Amino acid sequence: MTQTIAPVLGEATVQELRETGRGESLTPSDEGYAEACRVWNGAHDGRRPALVVRCTGAADVIAAIGFARSTHLPIAVRGGAHSIAGFSTCDGGLVIDLSPMKGVRVDPETRRATVGGGAVWADVDHETQAYGLATTGGLVSSTGVGGFTLGGGIGWLMRRHGLACDNLVAADVVTADGRLVRASEAENADLVWGLRGGGGNFGIVTQFEFELHAVGPMVYAGPIFYAADAARELLHAFRDWAGDAPDEITALVDLTTAPPLPVIPAEWHGKKVAAFIAVSAGPLDMGESLVADFRTVAEPIADLLGPMPYQVIQTLIDPLWQKGLNSYFKATNLSGLDDELIDRLTELHLAAPGPQCEIHVHQMGGAVARVTDDATAFTERSMPFVLNAVTGWHDAEVGSAHRDWARSVIGAAENVSTGRAYVNFLGDADADAARSSYGHQTYARLVALKNEHDPSNVFRLNQNIEPQAADA
Ligand SMILES: Cc1cc2nc3c(=O)[nH]c(=O)nc-3n(C[C@H](O)[C@H](O)[C@H](O)COP(=O)(O)OP(=O)(O)OC[C@H]3O[C@@H](n4cnc5c(N)ncnc54)[C@H](O)[C@@H]3O)c2cc1C
Repeated sequence: MTQTIAPVLGEATVQELRETGRGESLTPSDEGYAEACRVWNGAHDGRRPALVVRCTGAADVIAAIGFARSTHLPIAVRGGAHSIAGFSTCDGGLVIDLSPMKGVRVDPETRRATVGGGAVWADVDHETQAYGLATTGGLVSSTGVGGFTLGGGIGWLMRRHGLACDNLVAADVVTADGRLVRASEAENADLVWGLRGGGGNFGIVTQFEFELHAVGPMVYAGPIFYAADAARELLHAFRDWAGDAPDEITALVDLTTAPPLPVIPAEWHGKKVAAFIAVSAGPLDMGESLVADFRTVAEPIADLLGPMPYQVIQTLIDPLWQKGLNSYFKATNLSGLDDELIDRLTELHLAAPGPQCEIHVHQMGGAVARVTDDATAFTERSMPFVLNAVTGWHDAEVGSAHRDWARSVIGAAENVSTGRAYVNFLGDADADAARSSYGHQTYARLVALKNEHDPSNVFRLNQNIEPQAADA
């Protein structure tokens, strides 16, 4: 693929881009190209773009889009490079790598943070916690702010403070025709609606502005681990508790395998376990009382739920999900958690083909559900739970077994699946999945926005909203 486009990518033209831009432009013959190709998900690391442009600001982004359009190269946009479906790289195209743009500025008076388009959550948490502030970020701190927020953003603060996209106040966006526009409720309100859940379909965000909240520095947080045979009781208790829990707490049940961490008794390492994991961002004593039931649902193997710095819970599972791991997710929104599904999940947990096969049942509701469905492109806010089958593996040979297992977990939820899903948890790039994930009404509105901002689908390596042909 790279060879076919090499003639189009004449050195003189790349040279021009190098002279006008401030960031590096790397082709396969450049030193550093191999490293520049690397993305978080090892399953997509084999791709070889024709050019990787490491942008240092909006001007570089504008130049890179112009270059790609004039040379007819497909564009892959990269923030934190965590895309499960592999959108942050491509074969033979141009990667617009925003990772040098990771500056974060906090205004403690207005409780706002401006965040570079290539920052990761560790960058944001580091700066905001200096003022005892935070906004909803990811469960792993190396996840990019960009893809995470634009898809929605499910995190530990969401039931109290909303999804990441609900805290997005404004964005600077470079559009497909190379214009830098501001999107907020006051300017281009339709665009900011689409950026709150519609993914990278409408342009490249060079700067995000987020609302911040007082959080921590200590929160009541962490996991309680139980033996796998307690999974059924745990899921029943979780289901009955989740709907009435106050907004302060956000929790999930994780059916997993005990990692070899010193905090878990050695005899459990590598064995199937169930975990209740929660973050209560209210007063610490409130957190303790909110989780009391989970201390008696079964005998814990390890109870690590207690007061801890917010930044510790935000980085707690980072070592398990490191760059280079192969990964595949599949997810669905649930209308409920019935006994049949609980039984199937506990069986599938025991049948998991590897130690990094996890079944996550996220508690939704709270502030997420109080935003009306038409207020943002992220929809179906009334769903009580999100089911996510998360897999990671090192040996390429076991990849298909992991993908099949994830698909069977989601297949098991057929009766209580709403048929829709959170786009950031979809490991396949599938136009029909994107369409059904948003639902008919929201999808139609997204198409109208795409027609306006990107009618030739310049930004198509994403859960794609296909523009409608003018004569359609
Ligand atoms: C280990 C791990 C943990 C995760 N945990 C969570 C979690 O807790 N909650 C959750 O909701 N999701 C989670 N996810 C999913 C995550 O939200 C998506 O993978 C998301 O796309 C990651 O964003 P990124 O910027 O790192 O990705 P990238 O791969 O860099 O980008 C993915 C796509 O997003 C778009 N994009 C990224 N940045 C920009 C930008 N600045 N402007 C325009 N478009 C942009 C582009 O279309 C790009 O192709 C997790 C993923 C992984 C791998």
